[in-house]
Amino acid sequence: MSQIYDRVALIGLGLIASSMFWAMKRGGLAGEVTGYARSEETRATAREIGLCDRVCESAAEAVEGADLVVLCVPIGAMEAVTVEIAPHLAKGATVSDVGSVKRAVIEAVKPHLPKDVHFVPAHPLAGTEHSGPKSGFAELFENRWCLLVPEGADTKAVVRLRKLWEAMGANVDEMEADHHDLVLAVTSHAPHLIAYTMVGVADDLRRVTDSEIIKYSAAGFRDFTRIAASDPTMWRDVFLTNKDATLEILGRFTEELFALQRAIRTGDGDHLFDYFTHTRAIRRGIIEAGQDTDAPDFGRGAAKE
Ligand code: NAP
Repeated sequence: MSQIYDRVALIGLGLIASSMFWAMKRGGLAGEVTGYARSEETRATAREIGLCDRVCESAAEAVEGADLVVLCVPIGAMEAVTVEIAPHLAKGATVSDVGSVKRAVIEAVKPHLPKDVHFVPAHPLAGTEHSGPKSGFAELFENRWCLLVPEGADTKAVVRLRKLWEAMGANVDEMEADHHDLVLAVTSHAPHLIAYTMVGVADDLRRVTDSEIIKYSAAGFRDFTRIAASDPTMWRDVFLTNKDATLEILGRFTEELFALQRAIRTGDGDHLFDYFTHTRAIRRGIIEAGQDTDAPDFGRGAAKE
């Protein structure tokens, strides 16, 4: 594969940034990759494991001369980071991000950017419950979607960023920001909140049943615990910034839950059977779309999503 950008700056060096770095390195997609993380500890780890060609002591230094800058920090940190780097961005550079919510990031970032840089927000739909500089791997984005939210950005800048994500293995689509936030509320944000809640309920119960919930945890609960182990900062920011769409979906979820509760109470087996038949078909659709495998998963081998 050939080089797409001369110099890429990654701001924030966690799961997503480190996966981007290894994927870019593997494909020779960037001439040089600079990186910055706020803590000395993360910068030291990055240097130790060879994450980035150059680890800088400030975000401003990392973006100097970069033709692509990717903000890979939690959503709540995007604005402060943008204010810091804005005066140091090269003319004609593209600024992008990987935040899991798009409208809030656009509102936090766009007003602070100079007019002569292109802003192309992005969101790779790929992740694991792990975080930090050592958690990334080059294959993370393979056959996963990356959604670009260009909102009228320069076409050439959008095409170039699309090429980068495709070269890192992702399928790329474009979407409007509010639509993105609603889709993700259904597919990711509400499910995470439900998993967090379910694990919380089990933890309450654990006080009664001692360690039985851990000892006998079966696939359903184990899957919830994996999701509920996701980074607390990231998920706090997701819910604070995608409030309306998440609340809308949770309202619908509650209605469905009440309907299922009623079916259980009244012994309406047909309702339960039809409901579960329909949801099973959705699972089949996901497998057919290549977004998961139908291999039995007892949670004992697959460490990566
Ligand atoms: P991560 O592994 O926790 O890494 C976050 C990085 O941001 C760290 O380098 C951290 O620096 C830095 N950071 C944290 N707070 C900061 C602040 N206030 N100012 C400056 N830097 C700060 O996170 P991640 O999973 O890569 O997530 C990064 C972004 O990707 C988030 O916006 C998230 O919404 C999005 N995303 C995540 C996933 C996922 O599954 N994880 C999937 C898609 C998109 P230190 O290490 O020095 O603290």
